[in-house]
Amino acid sequence: MKCYDCEEVFENESSKGILEQMYPHYMKEHAEIITNASEEEKSAWMEKFNADFDAAPEM
Ligand SMILES: [Zn+2]
Repeated sequence: MKCYDCEEVFENESSKGILEQMYPHYMKEHAEIITNASEEEKSAWMEKFNADFDAAPEM
């Protein structure tokens, strides 16, 4: 899966594995997005992430 905010790509067989890669990436590269996000925006992000992961082809 591609980062929503840059061209970085993450590959893992589980959504949890991708999140574990994405989280430090967001903290490093997009910290202002995380720190400015409301709880509502965060849960919307998670919903989109889970839907996109389910829609992604098997790796
Ligand atoms: Zn990124």
